[in-house]
Amino acid sequence: MAFCKVCICGKKIVFERRSSFPDNCPSCGRRIIDFLIYAEDDPCVEQLMKNFVKTESSENTTKDVSIISLPHKKKYVLRLSTGKEIEIPDEGCIIGRTETGAEELADFPSVSRQHLRVTPRRNIGILIEDISTYGTLVDGQRIVKYSPVRVAEESKITLCDIEAVLTVKEEND
Ligand SMILES: [Zn+2]
Repeated sequence: MAFCKVCICGKKIVFERRSSFPDNCPSCGRRIIDFLIYAEDDPCVEQLMKNFVKTESSENTTKDVSIISLPHKKKYVLRLSTGKEIEIPDEGCIIGRTETGAEELADFPSVSRQHLRVTPRRNIGILIEDISTYGTLVDGQRIVKYSPVRVAEESKITLCDIEAVLTVKEEND
């Protein structure tokens, strides 16, 4: 029999042995260690997922609405705590000391040469994937390496030891 946990983002995480669950939710990167373990076919799991999805979407309503209702011409910018800005092209990019942002990140040796893959997605905001050596935090939570997570505008993104805010600039056609 398989077991599962339900993350509060609504993701059901299935695993074979009681002790073999991952540390973080593959969908949102939250730590799931504190969540209860259920039998995979437990009928309350379905209900739980629905409830969590509801909570999650009502929590994020304001942010989500702004993502969807804005015109498509948006420029994402990673604003570093140093005041410098890294522009993210529409097709996405890799941010790092030898990639996009090389100049802006030159003073931060613990940022990886290839640190973060950033992919803007129309209507759902922006996906980021940590590909670094020392890791990335989103709003203070470490994200799972090689597991893209969706982040909202104005999320605080920490590249190892430098803080940045993901900001949107609207452009008029
Ligand atoms: Zn999750």
